Amino acid sequence: MVIDCHYHLQSSFASTSKDGKERGRTWPQPASTGSGACSGGHIIEQQALGTDALLREMDRSGVNRTALMGSLIELFPEPPRPLLRILHAILESRRLRRLGQLLVANFTPQGGIKILGRPFQIVTDPDNGAVFDVVRRHPDRFLGWVFVNPRGRLDPLDELGKYRDEPGFIGVKAHPFWHRFAPVELLPVARELAELDKPLLIHCGFGQEGDYEVLLARVPELKLVLAHTGFPGYSDTWKTVLSLANVYLDLSQTSYVSEKATQESVARLGPDRLLFGTDGPYGFHDKEGRYDYGFIKRRIERLFPDKGARRRLLGENFAELVGLKPELGRRSSETA
Ligand SMILES: [Zn+2]
Repeated sequence: MVIDCHYHLQSSFASTSKDGKERGRTWPQPASTGSGACSGGHIIEQQALGTDALLREMDRSGVNRTALMGSLIELFPEPPRPLLRILHAILESRRLRRLGQLLVANFTPQGGIKILGRPFQIVTDPDNGAVFDVVRRHPDRFLGWVFVNPRGRLDPLDELGKYRDEPGFIGVKAHPFWHRFAPVELLPVARELAELDKPLLIHCGFGQEGDYEVLLARVPELKLVLAHTGFPGYSDTWKTVLSLANVYLDLSQTSYVSEKATQESVARLGPDRLLFGTDGPYGFHDKEGRYDYGFIKRRIERLFPDKGARRRLLGENFAELVGLKPELGRRSSETA
């Protein structure tokens, strides 16, 4: 069974299109757009996938199930690939980490973030309702993360309580980096997750906003997934979590996760601790502006020819982590 553990459902965003007009976009309209610079340097319109289009892409790429979460931001332009290669080298270098931080942690005084010089608003309370609507409609294809923000308007424990008994519920996602908080602020949620035996997925930031160790010290049995191969610590993160068997990393994202980091993290931690995910619809788009859903799966297949390791990375680890029932796995893999 192949499972994409990290995909953002695009709910309503007001985005500015090429003609400069402000357009409200509401899920499940087939496409929300953001302008992006393709590798040729000209601006193209990026298309987010509606649910049906996403299902088609999953089928085309051989992905049985996708774990959905809400979105924090409208589609943003992906930096041109040569520039991304430089960004990866900077981010992954311990010596240049401070520069990497300056490049990717460019927050505006209004709580937004600048990407390639353009400010984007960050949603404080991502839409969990829209996620679980989709999960309920396609229970055999989608799973749902509950997105929480201890600095948001909604109480994280209330949000978890609302969805924890949904059949497709798999755990909680939080973004200490863009929502600007220390992971230990998730303590009440982490305690409940440990009791439920479900994972917490976090996108760490720099400094205190990346300090997952304080949280783990308080809830040592917590199943913790660090997004994007342990961004922003990379090799430091791998060293820290090596002895912590309940900590996993996902391989999602093309701006934060290079081929080298993919290879090295698996070499370091072994194929049982890493999880396939896309972070779609953010990431590489083709010349027509269509999200390249299969990119990271193809990367994993290319880098890890060993069938056993590949199976672990592409879905088995995650199925075990979230406690997916084996009969669901069997049924889905028959359709693959
Ligand atoms: Zn993400």
